[in-house]
Order: sequence, then C-alpha cells, then structure tokens
Amino acid sequence: MSLSTELISKFSVVSDVFNNNATSQALSADSFIQVFKNVNTSKIELNLLEKLWASWYIYMNNDILATGLMIFILHELMYFGRCVPWMIIDHFNLFKKYKLQPDKYPSDKEQWECLKAVLKSHFLVEALPIWTFHPMCLQLGILYAVPFPSLKTIAYQVAIFFFLEDMWHYWFHRLFHYGPFYKYIHKQHHKYAAPFGLAAEYAHPVEVMALGFGTVGFPMIYSYFFRNLHLFTVCLWIVLRLFQAVDSHSGYDFPWSFNKVFPLWAGAEHHDLHHHYFIGNYASSFRWWDFTLDTESGPDAKSNREKRMRLRAEKKAKKL
Ligand SMILES: [Zn+2]
Ligand SMILES: [Zn+2]
Repeated sequence: MSLSTELISKFSVVSDVFNNNATSQALSADSFIQVFKNVNTSKIELNLLEKLWASWYIYMNNDILATGLMIFILHELMYFGRCVPWMIIDHFNLFKKYKLQPDKYPSDKEQWECLKAVLKSHFLVEALPIWTFHPMCLQLGILYAVPFPSLKTIAYQVAIFFFLEDMWHYWFHRLFHYGPFYKYIHKQHHKYAAPFGLAAEYAHPVEVMALGFGTVGFPMIYSYFFRNLHLFTVCLWIVLRLFQAVDSHSGYDFPWSFNKVFPLWAGAEHHDLHHHYFIGNYASSFRWWDFTLDTESGPDAKSNREKRMRLRAEKKAKKL
C-alpha cells in the first residue's frame, strides 16, 4: 500500500474532531445539514463556528480531505472575494480621489489576464502543499478538535505570525531585488507599476513558495515548539494575511485606511510606492524594518535621505 493510500484509509474511518470516535459516529449523517442539526442539538456548549467546523469534519468523514479542501476553498473564496470590491471600484472609477496613482488604472483585459495567471498558479503550485497539510499538522501537533482556543490565545498567536511573516518578507523580498533573483524570479510580480488587488499573488512559483513560507512555515515551527496551536487560528491568520496582501496592492489609500489609525501599519500607500519606484519598502505588514534600515521608498524618503547625507557631510567637513 502506498503512503498516501495508507494515510487516506487511516483517516477515512471516522473524524477525530471530537477526539472521540463514538461521538463523531453518533453525530454522522448523509447530508451536511443533518450533521449540523445533530451537532447543534447535542453540543450546545459549542459556538456557531465550532459547530460548523465539527459538522464539516464529521460530514467529510476523512480528516485529510476535510482539512485540504477547507484550506483550498478558504484561500480561493477569501482571495478572490476580497479582490471583487477592488475590481468594481477600478472598473467604475469610484474613489478616484483616493487612488494613489490616479492616472494609471488597470484595464479589464489586464485584470482578466492576471486572474487567469493567479488561478493557474493556485492549482499548479499551491494545490499539492494544501493536500499534504493535514498529515503535516498531525506531525507538528497542530490541533483541530473542538472547542477552539480562547480569543486571547488566538489573538497573541496571530500577532506573533504577523510580526514573523513581516520580518521574513522584508529580507526575502529585499533579496529578490538583487540582480539575478530579480531578473529571473521577482520581475514577474513587478509587471504592474500601478498595482491592483488581484496582482497580490501574481508572482513566479519560486517567489510564491519562498515568500509563502513566511505565512505557512512559521505557524508550523511555532507548533513544533509550543504544541498549543489550533488549525482554526492558522486559518484565521491565513485569511488576515490574504486581506493584508490584497489590500496593500489595491492602489487606494483612504482617510479611514488602517494605517491612518495605526501608523506602523504599512498599507497600500507603502507598497504602492514599492511598485511605482521598483525599490525600497520591502516589508509586507509594518513600516519598522524599512524605517530602521533606511530602505523607505518614494520621493519623500529620498529627499529625507539626501538631507541626512548632506547634514552628515557638513558635520564631517566642520570637524576637519
Ligand atoms: Zn519587489
Ligand atoms: Zn507587490
């Protein structure tokens, strides 16, 4: 028996979502609606999300497929779902006042071509890692049984992942701007000097894998060491990271954008400058790496840098 057949048969008996086979078996039914009704009446202590989560696993009756399919559908729905409002805004020229590069709008043809390329990449590059996700979760101790952890635990873990991913993204993105890496890998992502939502995941497969590690790899490492990470937290983190990536490519900066409330947040203003000038602003979520390491992008950052250099040169000249 091959390893994959062995794994599938191992998990196709009954779901472990309650850590109790008898409970899962007792709640199973032929339709998802019926499973949900069973869970809803017998597990009143669970919240709605937990009930839906448990029903999905029991209905699927195969935890490997349940996790793989859930992550894949979640990715597609959240990514493209988040892009739709931006596509409508671009198509009808709404909010022109807040467009960061107001003279550059993506054409419908460009959006369509980008959509096809991203979909192709999702199926070719990301489909396989998604299908092997559940066995890896088991190996690394990522939990998936209900109930979910407390909100406090979910919040601090998501905050840690945002911090680590941003650090990873800064250094790898900076590396991708180095000669051959840029020429053969990262150039694809820079096809659009005025980015739009869909362009967030328009990238070379090597870049998708390398930068994607920042999103998926850190939760795995975290779980390996701490053994208290739940798959729901990982899903929530992935959704928030997708929203961050799409929004930072949207090309719009509003007075109500998150970076106006929380100035350390990078937002679209930060990443739009990166696409416009092809240099600087390498981080994904926050501004501290580019600020501290003096790699901020755009004319304001350039004139500040020149001012600082001038002052330094004058100081040096006085000392001589
Ligand atoms: Zn770049
Ligand atoms: Zn970009």
